[in-house]
Amino acid sequence: PAGMSRNAWKKEQKKVKWLENRDKLNKYKRDKKKEKKAEKRALKEQNADEKEVKKGRNDLGTRVPITILIDCGFDDMMTEKERQSLSLQLTRCYSENRRSDTPMNIRVCSFDKKLKERFDTTMKAQYKVWRGIEFSELPYAVPESDEERNKIVYLSSDSENTLTELEDNMTYIVGGIVDKGRYKNLCQNKATSQKIKTAKLPISEFLTISGRKVLTTNHVVEIMVKWVELRDWKRAFEEIIPPRKQEGFETNRQKRKRENRSKSVES
Ligand code: SAH
Repeated sequence: PAGMSRNAWKKEQKKVKWLENRDKLNKYKRDKKKEKKAEKRALKEQNADEKEVKKGRNDLGTRVPITILIDCGFDDMMTEKERQSLSLQLTRCYSENRRSDTPMNIRVCSFDKKLKERFDTTMKAQYKVWRGIEFSELPYAVPESDEERNKIVYLSSDSENTLTELEDNMTYIVGGIVDKGRYKNLCQNKATSQKIKTAKLPISEFLTISGRKVLTTNHVVEIMVKWVELRDWKRAFEEIIPPRKQEGFETNRQKRKRENRSKSVES
């Protein structure tokens, strides 16, 4: 470039490269740190749960005759990060159900490939001693007869039907996938092709929710666990759906932000 010696320019380029690399390295370090933290949290949650078992609390002797089936047949549709997030979510589903006074049966199907690998290695295979939950590498079986098939409902935010209650002796399937909205109608289409009924949670009947009504796998499971406990959708939603998603509900951070905004306008 004009007005710059060859040497000075070379030096400049070197600096740019160095800065770029430093940023990359920092981001890498940050990500690693976050990952470590998430893993620690998952292990801690598992350990806390084992303590409860030892205390003899909730020995899962009696369970509500409702089955939640988490369909993990989407392993290769997720990035490593999303899969990591799903494994945390599964831990959450398990421990919230364990903690409930009215636990249901949980079945995890198509638990194979990389998700299982992660549970076997990073998560130290603790799931093998989890109780009240059943893991299967096989996909769930679709019954031949209408009568049996009608005892299954696949939950999907894209369904035209709305759940009013959870019924005894029914199986409710929840998609085990983190996709940040990348695959629309994924579970709705899967269920329809298997002639399985679908239904969405009655969110808009009880809440005004900002943004999309697609919840995470663990939130859907936790809402069902709460509903069985309280028999009250509104309270179940309010307790589980994060406040930032609930309209007219402001977090402290949002409040501070808003107040600061109006302050700077005033001055
Ligand atoms: N793109 C995915 C969404 C994944 S969200 C899809 O098309 O299915 C994870 C799972 O949570 C979904 O598969 C569904 O079973 C459940 N879910 C999320 N929001 C829901 C809602 N509003 N009502 C019922 N089920 C919901």
